[in-house]
Amino acid sequence: MSETTQDKYQILKTYYGYDSFRDGQEELIDCLLSGRDVCGIMPTGAGKSVCYQVPALMLPAITLVISPLISLMKDQVRALNQMGVHAAYLNSSLTFPQYKKALALAKEGRYKIIYVAPERLLTEDFQDFAANAEISMVAVDEAHCVSQWGQDFRPSYLKIPSFIGSLSKRPVVGAFTATATKEVKEDIIRMLELSDPHLTVTGFDRKNLYFEVRHDKDKYKGIKEYLNTHPDSSGIIYCATRKNVEEVCDRLIADGFAATRYHAGLSDAERRSNQEAFTYDEFPIMVATNAFGMGIDKSNVRFVLHYNMPKNMESYYQEAGRAGRDGAKADCILFYSGQDVITNQFFIEQNRDNDELTGEALELVRQRDRERLKKMTFYCHTADCLRDYMLRYFGEYGSNYCGNCSNCLNVFETIDISLIANDMIGCILTSGMRYGVNVILDALRGSKNEKVLRFGLDANHYYGSHSGETIVFLRQVLNYLVLTEYLTVTDDQFPIVKVKEKGLTFFSEAGEFRPVLTMKAAKKTPPAEKAGRFKDAASASGNAASASGRKRGAASAHTGSAPFESLRRLRTEIARAQHVPPYLVFSDKTLESMCVLLPQTKEEMLAVHGVGELKYQKYGEQFLALCRELGGEAEDF
Ligand code: ADP
Ligand code: ZN
Repeated sequence: MSETTQDKYQILKTYYGYDSFRDGQEELIDCLLSGRDVCGIMPTGAGKSVCYQVPALMLPAITLVISPLISLMKDQVRALNQMGVHAAYLNSSLTFPQYKKALALAKEGRYKIIYVAPERLLTEDFQDFAANAEISMVAVDEAHCVSQWGQDFRPSYLKIPSFIGSLSKRPVVGAFTATATKEVKEDIIRMLELSDPHLTVTGFDRKNLYFEVRHDKDKYKGIKEYLNTHPDSSGIIYCATRKNVEEVCDRLIADGFAATRYHAGLSDAERRSNQEAFTYDEFPIMVATNAFGMGIDKSNVRFVLHYNMPKNMESYYQEAGRAGRDGAKADCILFYSGQDVITNQFFIEQNRDNDELTGEALELVRQRDRERLKKMTFYCHTADCLRDYMLRYFGEYGSNYCGNCSNCLNVFETIDISLIANDMIGCILTSGMRYGVNVILDALRGSKNEKVLRFGLDANHYYGSHSGETIVFLRQVLNYLVLTEYLTVTDDQFPIVKVKEKGLTFFSEAGEFRPVLTMKAAKKTPPAEKAGRFKDAASASGNAASASGRKRGAASAHTGSAPFESLRRLRTEIARAQHVPPYLVFSDKTLESMCVLLPQTKEEMLAVHGVGELKYQKYGEQFLALCRELGGEAEDF
């Protein structure tokens, strides 16, 4: 079929099997097609590749994608070839003869999309090719590498403008990154010499990610439990040090888990083979330091666990963000301990990363790092919505309840304490502000204890007004009212509760129209109900897979169900036979949709999220046959 006659929606459907564009994609595509430069800032997993690949398939000539990482290029090219697009990469992983051959084919116009490492751009061979080729677009991936403010500065990125300048006709240029800070954004636009670029910044919220902070005494035990309750899921466990990686990985292996490791202390060969084993789901659990980073494009990472707290929120969000890139539900759980703060403080004080920094400048950097560490530590202690905390940190407004983090779901809830506060203040006032905390609380609960009766509080208007509450809860409310200065407790030998100005105002106003006073409190709902709540949150987000209401819904409920496992087994067989990673055959999300829809015809199969025409030609029949088989058993799960 001829690409030029297809519009962007058809391309998206035919090649990718998706029905609609995500936030930001369409405007970036339209701009590029109209010849205007763009700068796209989108979080990891938002779908940046689609933004330049779709126009690449529609523009008349070649698209060059400049990418800093070999693994990333390989993965992308493999994915494109899977979809039926002719693509190739040119980087140092090719032998010289392979490189020559690829260039020769490129010259013949065999590739629509060519990935190239920045160091190659100004080499003689490549210049020779580029000078004679027609190039429609240059897409710069991981564009923050051009900035010294970014985390991964690559000097060879600075050569990009002169390469573009050397071309006979200037192609349209698109720059893409997940780094959103002001300095980086400005650097990208200036240093890449984008011309009047259209800027798109999409939200950083990743709704499919569940966030949790845990304070387990025995972290390893916590991790093991998690893995036991999520068998067959693939994920990453990040540790702060190589030593931790070794320890955790060894223990997991000893406990029978298919874990592998990655850190800077291993040989290149071992790192490569471990990463491959993880990518191909042979060892679905990767224990790693942050050296296992950029360029991990595995879409079916179902969890990212942090065995240690990272040094700042930027690192955390980047690492956690490697979960759930396919858009299906995934878990990001941080195992916190006070020791992590100390370790990070040590790293900050020892920081000699940059030799050029001395004296004042170095101290400034340290101060900034300490500040960031503090914010990271607050994240681990906040009782507020974790997602909200994170989004605020990155300068976005969240809502203060996301329904998909541990604080929203399990631990705390915001409750209206207006009535209790009102009655508590009332009881204190009407009894003359003479009694201690316990007497007041006992009176509210309607206790018949000796003191309450002796002081005649059983005749008080508020006596027994909250007999249904526990003493612990009432005490919590009272403490909260002290903290927020509605009440105060005197410093005497027998402390007495008194009402402060703010409490008096609240009380008199409350009598008329009851202003709302809220407090965060530990949830009182039984565990079963919690799971139920999550179910609602999950189905509200459109995930039909939450049907079994599995706790926290981690990997979707269908993962682990019999039909899902059958589909997954078929995927594994095909992947093995064809030597491609399983998620490139179909993503977890696609299998989930398939599981829900159980398509019985080709048309139905093509309606499944992630099944395009070309993927259908490759695998459609096999999966269809299996779905037909499963169709008969559908009632069983
Ligand atoms: P990024 O480079 O921004 O981190 P990717 O380009 O790797 O993200 O995309 C992440 C995942 O989202 C991929 O599996 C991709 O196929 C998928 N994706 C991209 N665009 C869409 C879309 N419009 N609908 C559904 N899935 C999409
Ligand atoms: Zn939340």
